[in-house]
Amino acid sequence: MAAMAMKSLHLHIPSPISHCQSDFLTQSGITLHMKRDDLIHPLLQGNKWRKLKYNLLAAQQQKQHTLLTFGGAFSNHIHATAAAGKLLGFKTIGIIRGETHSPLNPTLQDASNWGMRLEYINRADYRQKHTEAFISKLHHQYGDFYLIPEGGSNTLAMQGCAEINTEIQDDYDFICQACGTGTTLAGLISSAREQTQILGFAVLKSAAFLIDDVSKKLNDGGHKKQHNWNINLNYHFGGYAKTQTALLDFINSFKTQYAIQLEPVYTGKMMYGIFDLIRKGHFPKGSRVLAIHSGGLQGLRGFEL
Ligand SMILES: *Cc1c(COP(=O)(O)O)cnc(C)c1O
Repeated sequence: MAAMAMKSLHLHIPSPISHCQSDFLTQSGITLHMKRDDLIHPLLQGNKWRKLKYNLLAAQQQKQHTLLTFGGAFSNHIHATAAAGKLLGFKTIGIIRGETHSPLNPTLQDASNWGMRLEYINRADYRQKHTEAFISKLHHQYGDFYLIPEGGSNTLAMQGCAEINTEIQDDYDFICQACGTGTTLAGLISSAREQTQILGFAVLKSAAFLIDDVSKKLNDGGHKKQHNWNINLNYHFGGYAKTQTALLDFINSFKTQYAIQLEPVYTGKMMYGIFDLIRKGHFPKGSRVLAIHSGGLQGLRGFEL
């Protein structure tokens, strides 16, 4: 495939930037834009595309024909990897955490339709997935493959996410990103202008460890120590994929007001957080804020909105 085949994907890159306008934002003195990575591709959207890009090129360079990766049953990463395999001609194997799903949920049904071989492993084994013993067992079972870690989160993924900044011409005071593993945030920090504050919003409960994780990712990637970033831990709504009525109501009213669809696992929590912080006067008047819409809309099918 390589660069040639990637061209055939017709990706909407650079992704567009939408201006969110309302009386509330005007009165607050905040200029709010969203970078629409959700519009990159109908099936390969958001940061999951950004994270896959250099992994797919590496797989091709290594002449690998199979991608193997891991994820939960509603995983945006599993979905994107299966789509990439289908569109670019890789075989794909998805190692899914937990019990066999029968019938398949919409995420796994798509993945299966696109040719992904789904294998279920129990939670204890799933925790072993980084160990050499486990990986060599996988090779014994499935032969050669290019391994992409859970969530697509490795150094090549960070490199793909760092490219987001190259598509931003305007000066922003703040760039906001929802954080699971913090890989996307680390990529954004690695390539940000010094004057811009990069603000992460953790979607997991008790996510203070993310500060160290992101520092380590930056360090491992050879980036010098930067101080223009932070992670807000206050908008997890009870934990990963947990929702509350206030969050779902916010997502619905955001769509009505700004005509942009969010989802409750990542972007909904971040945008709720941004609006709450605006209300509390966290951003100085006159601030220019850019929120990254990191996609994930396939996951909406798991929720009643
Ligand atoms: C996976 C995901 C994230 C989190 O990305 P990390 O790099 O793991 O922090 C954010 N938003 C969406 C929509 C995602 O699918």
